[in-house]
Amino acid sequence: MSSTLSFEVFPPNTQIGSEKLFKTLKELQLMQPDFISVTCSNNRQTIEETTLKVANYIHKELNVPTIAHLPAAYLSQAQLAELVTQLDQIGIDQILALRGDILPDLPPKQDFTYASDLIDYVKKEAPHFHISGACYPETHPESQNRVEDIKNLKHKVSVGCEQLITQLFFDNELFYHFQESCYLADIKVPILAGIMPIVNRNQALRLIKTTNTKLPRKFLAILEKYEHDPIALREAGLAYAIDQIVDLTTQDVSGIHLYTMNNAEVAKHIYHNTKNVLHGDIKAG
Ligand code: FAD
Repeated sequence: MSSTLSFEVFPPNTQIGSEKLFKTLKELQLMQPDFISVTCSNNRQTIEETTLKVANYIHKELNVPTIAHLPAAYLSQAQLAELVTQLDQIGIDQILALRGDILPDLPPKQDFTYASDLIDYVKKEAPHFHISGACYPETHPESQNRVEDIKNLKHKVSVGCEQLITQLFFDNELFYHFQESCYLADIKVPILAGIMPIVNRNQALRLIKTTNTKLPRKFLAILEKYEHDPIALREAGLAYAIDQIVDLTTQDVSGIHLYTMNNAEVAKHIYHNTKNVLHGDIKAG
């Protein structure tokens, strides 16, 4: 059984970042990913200029299947309907339906309290859309416990989410445990594993500060040992991600979703070192 490979990119804030992203996207296209997804900030004012612009380019110019992320907590139903229409007009019919993070000083709108409300709405208004959703092998931080989180995930799938993409993780065992919980709850849609290669110290420090993802001993040892050696840190970080991917494919993961951080070189390295593993079928006999 082969596994899919997809990439995530984010729309940058600067002109230089944008130019770099369009170059990156051309390189990502050469790797024939199953899709490229484009993140979206919670700020609706900029969606047209950011997510939609980048998604349009990937879809129209590069002819690569595209998923637009759509966080809805701060959208009214009318605003959401308008965005869905715009996506439809571009020809993109795949979204990653999200609630999005709730900002501490800004109360969300009431129309879409959870991602499942958004999925329910889109499935009724535009049933041809293919909808992915987010999931959390280590449980969503706001969830009381794993059981509640899995129940909510099951609801997300029952209203029309056809594929799940995980939050990044560094411990595959946690992913397998989560996958098993999904099977037991009769959640049968493909679950793509979100993998983020760590290639520099700042990225690692940011991660440690902002995430509650478990960092295994082997991973922490890399950060400590190569703290002052950026080349070795990059090499070891890439090797760690490749090791995770190889292990996941041996367990027949549905797909690998690579958080590229808009870095084509990283994606290329991972691709060239895993493409046979990802696409290799076991021959009978
Ligand atoms: P939900 O699925 O709505 O879940 C949020 C919380 O509510 C969970 O604790 C869940 O258990 C609970 N819940 C769900 N349904 C119910 C219910 N019916 N009753 C009670 N509780 C319920 N954020 C962005 O802003 N932009 C992005 O582009 C983006 N991309 C992402 C991509 C991936 C692959 C992932 C994993 C996350 C991404 N995020 C993004 C982050 C995401 O928006 C946050 O994690 C957010 O806090 C939750 O969004 P969600 O769609 O998972 O929410």
